[in-house]
Amino acid sequence: MSARTQGGGRSPPPGDIVAGDRRALAAAITLIESTLEEDREPAEALLQALLPHAGKAVRIGISGAPGVGKSTFIEAFGTRAIAAGRRLAVLAVDPSSERSGGSILGDKTRMAALARSERSFIRATPAGGALGGVARRTRDAMIACEAAGFDLVMVETVGVGQSEAAVADMVDLFMLLVQPGAGDELQGIKRGVMERADIVVVTKADGALEAAAAHAKADFEAALSLHAGAGPWTPCVIVCSSVEGTGLGEIADAVERHRAAMAGAGALEARRAAQARTWLWREVEESLMARLRADGRLAPAVEALEAEVTAQTLTPSAAARRIVTGILRADEGEGARPPPASPLPPEPETE
Ligand code: GDP
Repeated sequence: MSARTQGGGRSPPPGDIVAGDRRALAAAITLIESTLEEDREPAEALLQALLPHAGKAVRIGISGAPGVGKSTFIEAFGTRAIAAGRRLAVLAVDPSSERSGGSILGDKTRMAALARSERSFIRATPAGGALGGVARRTRDAMIACEAAGFDLVMVETVGVGQSEAAVADMVDLFMLLVQPGAGDELQGIKRGVMERADIVVVTKADGALEAAAAHAKADFEAALSLHAGAGPWTPCVIVCSSVEGTGLGEIADAVERHRAAMAGAGALEARRAAQARTWLWREVEESLMARLRADGRLAPAVEALEAEVTAQTLTPSAAARRIVTGILRADEGEGARPPPASPLPPEPETE
C-alpha cells in the first residue's frame, strides 16, 4: 500500500474511534497520513477531538539496524504484554521505504501473532518526502491509537537516517536494539543515538551468540556509563532472546521501573511537554518549507537569492530573511489582492 500521495477520504466520527472501532481507527490514520491539502483541516479537527482521550498509554520507541531483530522482538514482547492484559498498537516509521518500495511492510507477516490478535493494531507509515513529515504523522497516529484505547504504543524505526531522533522525540522510553557481533558493535551506532537510549537491548542471546551477547552487554554498559545523566532514570543494558523468550520479563520490569521513576519525579510530564514544544517548532519549519516549495511565484526570486549566496555576494542570513518575508507577503496577498509581481522584498538597507 503506497500512501505517498493518497487522499484520506471522509473523516470517521471521533466517537467511533474512542469506542475502539478498529476500522474507524484505520480510517483516521489514513486521513492523518494523507498528503492532500484538503485533508489537513479535517485531520486536524479529528485529532483535536481525540486529544482529550489520548495520553494515557506507555509510549515506547524501538530502533535498531535492519536485521537486528526488531520485529521478532516486538512480536515476542508484544505477545507477552497482551497476555498481561495490555492493548498494543505498533506503528512503524520507515525512512528507507523509498528504497525497498514497500515500506517496513509486510509487518502483518513479520508479526503474525500480533496481526491476528484483537488486542493489537499494526500500522506502517509509508515513507517518502521529508522525514519530519513521516514521523509527524506517526506521532499523530499515536494519538489516535491512544484515543482508541491502546495503552501500550510501540513506535518502530529502522536505524538509518535521522528517524531515531524523531522517534525518540515522541516516546516516553527509547529502546535501542543491538546484536552481538564481531566486537565492534558500538561502531555502527550513530553519534547521538546511544545518548537517547533509556534501555539498550542486546538481541539474539541464544545458541552460538550467547557468549558474544554477554560481551556486547559489557561494551554497551561501559559506553552508557560515559554519558550517564543526573535524571531520575539510569539507562541499562539487557540481554534477551526473542526466539527463546529469555530476558523479555526483565525488559518488561525495566519498562515498569522506568515508568515509576519518571512519573514519580514529574519527569514524564516534563518530557512530554518538551516533546510537544519540539514538534510545534518542527511543524512550523516544515510548514514554511512546504509553503515555499508549493508557491511557484516565489521560485525565481528564491533561485536568484540562492545564486547570490552561492556567489558570496549576499549573506545567507540576509537571503533567508528575504525569503521568509516573501512567504509572508505572498500569503497576505492571497485572495485579497492579486499576487505581487515580485513577491520577495528588496534587501534591507541595514543588517
Ligand atoms: P528486523 O529487521 O530488525 O526487524 O529483524 P528481524 O526481527 O526481521 O530479524 C532478523 C533475523 O534475525 C531473522 O532471521 C530472525 O529470525 C533473527 N532473529 C531475531 N531475533 C532473534 C533471536 O532472538 N535469536 C535468534 N537466534 N535469531 C533471531
